[in-house]
Amino acid sequence: MNFVKSAATPEIRSEKAYYFIFSHNDILVSGESPDRLSIPCLSETTATEMGLGGVRFLGRYDSIDCWCARMGPSDLPEKYRMVSLRSLYGKADADFWSISGYARQIHDWNLNFQFCGRCGRATAAGTTEHSRICPQCSLTSYPRISPAIITAVVKDNQILLARG
Ligand SMILES: [Zn+2]
Repeated sequence: MNFVKSAATPEIRSEKAYYFIFSHNDILVSGESPDRLSIPCLSETTATEMGLGGVRFLGRYDSIDCWCARMGPSDLPEKYRMVSLRSLYGKADADFWSISGYARQIHDWNLNFQFCGRCGRATAAGTTEHSRICPQCSLTSYPRISPAIITAVVKDNQILLARG
């Protein structure tokens, strides 16, 4: 994968950029058929017209900027639609599937930490790293890292299956 993560908002932006746009549990996609979906690559003008909120830089994929955002109040452009993030699996390029998961984590964290957990004041987004900083008490919060692990308990050529 040719995705380079970065939280530092670029001074010079690529002419077009990939936008990972979320609304509740869904992500904005384009695609000619239901079985082949892609993340939209938008001009800055188009992105501005969509009235996106919470726009955050994610990094670059093949030297093209990647941003995450939440859907704005404007109507959904005709050639796009919202689908569940899970439904992208197998229908979008594997790299974009992976970046979409990362984008979702950064988007949700940014949305959920709008206010300081210590004093309740509105936080501001960091400009050089994924952080939210409280202007009142200087508490800095960072995205949570949520690793996952899968194991198999095997004995005598049998595998333990459990539920719950
Ligand atoms: Zn605070």
